[in-house]
Amino acid sequence: MGLSKTIWTNPTEFLRKAQPENPVLFFAPQIVQATARRFLDGFPGLVTYAVKSNPSEEMIENLIAAGIEGFDCASPFEIDLIRRLDPDAAIHYHNPVRSRADIAHAVASRVMAWSVDSVSELAKLVEMVPAAGCEISVRFKLPVAGAAYNFGAKFGATSDVAVQLLQTVAEAGFTPSLTFHPGTQCTDPEAWATYIREAVVIARRAGVRIARLNVGGGFPSNRGAAVAIDLETIFATIGRVATEAFGAERPVLVCEPGRALCGDAFAVAARIKAVRDGSHVFLNDGIYGSMFEFSQIGIVDRISVLDAEGYRRTGAPEGRVIFGPTCDSVDRLPGEVMLPTDVAEGDFVVIHGMGAYSTVTNSRFNGFGDLACVTVLSLRL
Ligand SMILES: *Cc1c(COP(=O)(O)O)cnc(C)c1O
Repeated sequence: MGLSKTIWTNPTEFLRKAQPENPVLFFAPQIVQATARRFLDGFPGLVTYAVKSNPSEEMIENLIAAGIEGFDCASPFEIDLIRRLDPDAAIHYHNPVRSRADIAHAVASRVMAWSVDSVSELAKLVEMVPAAGCEISVRFKLPVAGAAYNFGAKFGATSDVAVQLLQTVAEAGFTPSLTFHPGTQCTDPEAWATYIREAVVIARRAGVRIARLNVGGGFPSNRGAAVAIDLETIFATIGRVATEAFGAERPVLVCEPGRALCGDAFAVAARIKAVRDGSHVFLNDGIYGSMFEFSQIGIVDRISVLDAEGYRRTGAPEGRVIFGPTCDSVDRLPGEVMLPTDVAEGDFVVIHGMGAYSTVTNSRFNGFGDLACVTVLSLRL
């Protein structure tokens, strides 16, 4: 069996044979299929995918094969990508700030669903987008605890502004809807519940019956070895609270997960370039590579170390400082990372749950970041 094989059994088989000197992202399509099924079976509404979290074609193709028919896009590039891979997909252009050129591009690309969070940007849409059959979702925000990263800091109207926007949307002849994003890696179902209850208040104050309520992304993926992810409880809470709050006027529900659909389907293997004087570990990947997000929301602690022959290191866990390969001192994983005491130069550090916000933030700073993607049947080492 040579290196031309396209699907490997698992990361161990590849690492043993290929001895890669650059970081490798392992992709397990079966996990995407299973996770997409979990959403399609469990979420009480339409499931769309937030393309920005991982726009690789193998990821998108797998979601289409699994039955995902809608995509949340944030740019003309993402719109073109989806139109090319699935000409009939529903595209939701849910970046609430767009240039006029962006808007014209999306209209020409048959985009029929938009979001907005300000008077000035709504005026641009009303001027440039034909209203017939088109939906505009007003994005609102609340201060909510429970997420790893606060999305309300950049986007979302206050409730008062949302009331005004919703009225303008309806008066201009668009289909009025509401949307929010509770913040990424949100593990608390009550975050969604609080937003849904506020959505009713906004719709009633505006005197507008909303067609759809998009509950955003933010669904968690498995970052901590000790934390089980309970998507089903979040789905059940969303369905129950929407019915309680809206009663007979319950809108169609939509979600737009990114991380939760792609995160667990990928693992990264980074090679140890050096253990400097027996202490600091230097990897061939770091903050300027696939691990940018660690500096924002903390490290994924599902980590295993394999020696160069592919055997698992079993030494007792010990906290280590880990640096990435660039010359910038920012290029350090946060805190100390627990690694087996017997780690050595040439070992592979395999980090699971690396599908989201990893390929997209990988830069070529200092000439590093030549990240290969390898398809595997399973991510079990
Ligand atoms: C980023 C984003 C998402 C996806 O968020 P995840 O935390 O990856 O699920 C969904 N909707 C909007 C509008 C976003 O900006």
